[in-house]
Amino acid sequence: MRESMARGRDSLPIDFRAEPERSPRIQSDRGRSQRAVGIPRPQRWDRPFDPEMTERDVDLVMDTPVFQKMDPKEFPRNLPLQGILLNDARIRHYEHGEVIVQAGDFGGSFFQVMAGRVRSLRVEAGGRAPRKGARTKRSVFSAIGQLWRNSPVPERRNIEDYPVLAGPWAMAEEEGPRERLEDVGAILASQQTDLLTEDDMFGETEALTRQPYNRTYFAEGRAVVLELRWQGLRDIRRCNKGFRARIDSLYQSRDLRMHLQESPLFRHLDDEVLDHIARNTLFETHGEFEWAHGFKRLASESPQEVVKAEPVIAEYGDYLDGLILIRSGFGRITEQEAGGLRTAGFLTRNETFGLPEIIDHWRRDAPLNHRFGLHAVGYVDLLRVPTVLVERFVLPGLPEEALAAATRDDPTRHLSAFADRREATVDPTLIDFLVNTRTMNGTAVMAINTDRCTACDDCVRACAAAHDNNPRFLRHGPEHENIMIANACLHCVDAVCLIGCPTGAIHRDPGSGNVLIDDTTCIGCATCANSCPYNNIRMVEIRDDDGSPIVDQTGGNPIVKATKCDLCIDQLGGPACQRACPHDALVRLDLRDRDSLWRWASQ
Ligand code: SF4
Ligand code: SF4
Repeated sequence: MRESMARGRDSLPIDFRAEPERSPRIQSDRGRSQRAVGIPRPQRWDRPFDPEMTERDVDLVMDTPVFQKMDPKEFPRNLPLQGILLNDARIRHYEHGEVIVQAGDFGGSFFQVMAGRVRSLRVEAGGRAPRKGARTKRSVFSAIGQLWRNSPVPERRNIEDYPVLAGPWAMAEEEGPRERLEDVGAILASQQTDLLTEDDMFGETEALTRQPYNRTYFAEGRAVVLELRWQGLRDIRRCNKGFRARIDSLYQSRDLRMHLQESPLFRHLDDEVLDHIARNTLFETHGEFEWAHGFKRLASESPQEVVKAEPVIAEYGDYLDGLILIRSGFGRITEQEAGGLRTAGFLTRNETFGLPEIIDHWRRDAPLNHRFGLHAVGYVDLLRVPTVLVERFVLPGLPEEALAAATRDDPTRHLSAFADRREATVDPTLIDFLVNTRTMNGTAVMAINTDRCTACDDCVRACAAAHDNNPRFLRHGPEHENIMIANACLHCVDAVCLIGCPTGAIHRDPGSGNVLIDDTTCIGCATCANSCPYNNIRMVEIRDDDGSPIVDQTGGNPIVKATKCDLCIDQLGGPACQRACPHDALVRLDLRDRDSLWRWASQ
């Protein structure tokens, strides 16, 4: 099998490297001769998605109607279609009831049914906790032992771990036991499922928006499924117009309906009404998908200039033609004040804009105009549901208490219209700070109370101890009054660092959703470091056990790897920084729960 894979690879125009060799000496930057270890420079596809994928498998995929329509000549020579399929795809066989994708799992793959039947099962929000990560924590003994095993050599690596030396087979991930639904018949009889058959696709939305899957997919009978990891989907979509159009239309149509269903506002509607609303709902995108560069460009501008540069989704006073439902990204709510616009709040996934105004219009015939403005912070995907349909179908079916809750739960509770609540809980300048620094994107923001912090650096030392003596953050960062947001990975909701990684080395842990870097498949291209809006990724030169630099065997240039905070994913007890602080000055906060920051800040 391995030979056939190698033959398959040889027959494709893919650059394969020569065997590694040792380069005895290089010139160090101080001009001294220094021993160095030369290895081939790591490249994309050193570790294929499935080392067992063969050229014959690629032919099978190319024979399916979706891929038959593609012209391989549309793909660049260094990124051939067959190469993408050979390295970024795998073919999986499922038995009856086996789960292909579980709702709530973070995933970066897109799927196409090659044979058999697949069912998708809607899971109510909150109905399933994300699966625990496969990643194992260190044992207590290992955690204690690491304290004296840590190396004095900075960024030490074992080159034998790298697939460029170990080969793709040594790095193949073993698939754990699959989950299987026990009584498929009962599920089909009692729950709403959708059937997918040959050539149907799924998972494109989650792959494109870097979100967890919102449905569970399982095999009904035996099924064969093509799984394409995110990097392959991105490249095929980029190179082939037909595929791009098909994926985008799926994303906008089928998933638009699914997204409506996710919102508690629409759950009481029957299928017919929901279809009618979905057909009349507009799907809009505002801002740049890869927004980090624009954000960095504006970093030195005043907050007013930053707001002005953001695309306007709705203006204060405009006729309110539809309820806005955010699908992904962030919106900045603005309020008019003397001298310009003030940030009054922000919105994220599944939050609405305009609901209180629509309810007031429906109940009391109040004017149907926006009381606030809405801007795109970076990139926003949203749905605009016509006001007339909300008033006709949605509001009448909601119980009185739900209507009250819909208004109360609307994030505009932080606005001046709800001044009694805002005064009690929120400092508006803090909201401004969070939006302007885009910190509200974080699920694990490192916040330091500078009144309590004594600069003892116990947090930094604890981080270093947990990472082989290499600290993974800087105790430094933007400040607002007594709050500092340190330069540590935020583990973003919208992790733009993931978009361009050619190998998928930077990825979400499927269980926890934390953003992690697989050192063995990182090729050191620095795309992620340049994309991170917060400069939280560092590129480091690596060394072997003896401290010798590891270099590219052809040019002698240092091999570099991306590094950042991994939230101590393998440590007992969670992030070491937080546990180490003797003054209780440092916390990791998930800003999807906005109240956690308000509570912490007001302590
Ligand atoms: S590396 Fe940067 S963009 Fe990526 S998750 Fe961390 S903070 Fe967010
Ligand atoms: S440097 Fe970043 S973008 Fe490049 S391969 Fe490594 S993790 Fe991916």
